[in-house]
Amino acid sequence: MSFSSQVKQELLRVRPEKHCCMLSELSALTQTCASLRLGGGGGLRIVYEVENTALAKRIFLLLKKRLEMTPTLEFARYKRLGGRSACLLTLQRQDSRRLLIALGMLRESAAGEFFRGAPRSTQTRRCCRASFLRGAFLGAGAMIDPEMGYHLEFSVNDGRQDVLLGILEKSGLHAAVIKRRGKDVIYIKRGDDVADCLTMMGAHHAKMEMENIRIKRDSRNQANRASNCDQANLNKQLAAGQRQAAAITRYSLSHSLSGLPKELQEIARLRMLNPDLSLEQLGQQLSPPLGKSGVNHRLRKLMAAISESTANDEDEPITE
Ligand SMILES: [Zn+2]
Repeated sequence: MSFSSQVKQELLRVRPEKHCCMLSELSALTQTCASLRLGGGGGLRIVYEVENTALAKRIFLLLKKRLEMTPTLEFARYKRLGGRSACLLTLQRQDSRRLLIALGMLRESAAGEFFRGAPRSTQTRRCCRASFLRGAFLGAGAMIDPEMGYHLEFSVNDGRQDVLLGILEKSGLHAAVIKRRGKDVIYIKRGDDVADCLTMMGAHHAKMEMENIRIKRDSRNQANRASNCDQANLNKQLAAGQRQAAAITRYSLSHSLSGLPKELQEIARLRMLNPDLSLEQLGQQLSPPLGKSGVNHRLRKLMAAISESTANDEDEPITE
């Protein structure tokens, strides 16, 4: 099952208890999965069209419980759905009008004028904004599996994005809009915002799962950064070893290593033969073995001695 479907299944188990919240969720569901259709006799009717039968049942129950309306229910098979069937919930003319007024989408005074609004409580109450977002996700939401990245979106019909954008903004969630196949797609991309949106809608389980994935992803990124850092250190160490070995070789050709103090001779020969070894590894080859800082100290002394005696040579100065 996709992550989106998991979130929807979880949201379907959340029941809006308060009257204000029921209306807010209905408002979002009406904006995302209903349309106004001309019925017989010329009146406009609200028709909800959903593929998910559990969602159809939810809309049915919300209409009945909150507004005492009973829509007619039928199934239709559509070519555009690849032969899959959809549930159609149709409200009668009077109920359609009553619903639009209740949702703040129609003003009685402006006869017949259709407003794309939302209940006032979505402006004043967080519980209602949460219910609106839950309804919008159930009706038109999708989310990418957090393993792949953070992206949650709502895809709505042209002109219906403003209300949703306003509610997201008021909830402190950063959203943007793109056009895709004639629809307005409102999306959230920041990990924190996606997580907050899930929490707000009531998808706590999905949020936990996302956070677990985030922790794994973050530590993977940290490990990658650390290994990049290790690689950079390794490159630096290799370059230094090779510079030292080249300088020692040049010195041994023009002077003699045996002119150096014994402890420096020993490290000089070892470095010349092993330009790739780290300081620790070089130290292990000495007898008695020497620690990293001891090896570093000896190498510095060696390089200083070489540098001093080749100061008059034409070779480039050795700084290491
Ligand atoms: Zn509420």
